[in-house]
Amino acid sequence: MINQRYVKLGNVRSVIRELFEYGNARKREIGEENVFDFSLGNPSVPSPEEFNVALADMVEHTDPVALHGYTSAQGAPEVRTAVADYINGTFGSHVTPDLIYMTCGAAAALTITLCALCNEGDEVITFVPYFPEYAVFAAQAGAKLVPVSTEENTFDIDFAALSAALGAKTKAVIINSPNNPSGVVYPEESIKKLAAMLKEHSKKTGSPVYLIADEPYRELVYDGEKVPYVMNYYGDSIVCYSFSKSLSLPGERIGYIAVSKDAAEAESVFAAVCGAGRSLGYVCAPSLLQRAVIKFLGHTSDISVYKRNRDRLCSALESYGFTVVRPQGAFYLFVKALEEDDYAFCERAKQFELLLVPGEGFGGKGYVRIAYCVSPQMIERALPAFVKLAQSYGKNV
Ligand code: PLP
Repeated sequence: MINQRYVKLGNVRSVIRELFEYGNARKREIGEENVFDFSLGNPSVPSPEEFNVALADMVEHTDPVALHGYTSAQGAPEVRTAVADYINGTFGSHVTPDLIYMTCGAAAALTITLCALCNEGDEVITFVPYFPEYAVFAAQAGAKLVPVSTEENTFDIDFAALSAALGAKTKAVIINSPNNPSGVVYPEESIKKLAAMLKEHSKKTGSPVYLIADEPYRELVYDGEKVPYVMNYYGDSIVCYSFSKSLSLPGERIGYIAVSKDAAEAESVFAAVCGAGRSLGYVCAPSLLQRAVIKFLGHTSDISVYKRNRDRLCSALESYGFTVVRPQGAFYLFVKALEEDDYAFCERAKQFELLLVPGEGFGGKGYVRIAYCVSPQMIERALPAFVKLAQSYGKNV
């Protein structure tokens, strides 16, 4: 018999993917401009022009055998050096190239990291709402995902709930800031408090709890918001970074893992990262992309579009009677549905051609996610549909 766990996983229908397919079919039926698809976190803003020019230039002027050949399993040495230099220069950390592992985006970075750290039966804490794939990545590592609640009006960490969740089996805590789906950026005070709590717990149990920072949205922040770099607050930390959103490259699959030099037995942790990468077949991230992204470290696509969308959508939804926690980063809104059942709410939204994602999969029952990484024109076209949706719940708009 083949592996039934994977058969089951392969057959589970992703709500987001299903909505995406539904939206495509609906667009063919009634025209693209009449469907308001807020389902996917696929950036609508193109990669920087200079990035495409650099890619073309590399293809034209580099020896193709070297350019398209295998790199080291962990990534090309000059790429790992550039990434380490960037981290140290930008955040004042002290990572070394031999603690950098290039990956196919954050998904691979997280799966590798969890497999490297966890033993069967370990627990991995994360904060609600969270990226649903964490549960899949943790399961691959033989671990169990433990979602911990956050403060209702801010989505900031609920430290009483965290304290109750930390136990003998806790191996790691994943934070994702800016967050998908809430857009929250955890303030420095919270990161300090989190670090203090994890230090104390690690001391008590005698084995480190690792802090994993999932950072595909690091640069996507608005109004001068700062995202604390976890390595500067906590030794046993690992950053899983992706260029998918910052440079609008989700289909190109490129990112990295950075293990803090201050982690206990950092070399062994990195050896486990290499071993996990090897056993999962996640070696030698795309060579062309490795070499291209190091010319654009810290750069972004034109994120002013997302800020404009955020401001327009938040103000409009508030005026229609929705409760909105204004996101400080990423490109998602996580709003309370106008009824308890988020699935029923999303079904009703479909009647107005609005495609919203139910919050339950993110651990946020009663909420919906709106991905606003769309064109500003679509936001304008969608607003009357949001009005009708609110009116259908008796809101006086
Ligand atoms: N983590 C979060 C919070 C995400 O939102 C995503 C993608 O949407 C990922 C990880 C995976 O990103 P990547 O495309 O880099 O694999």
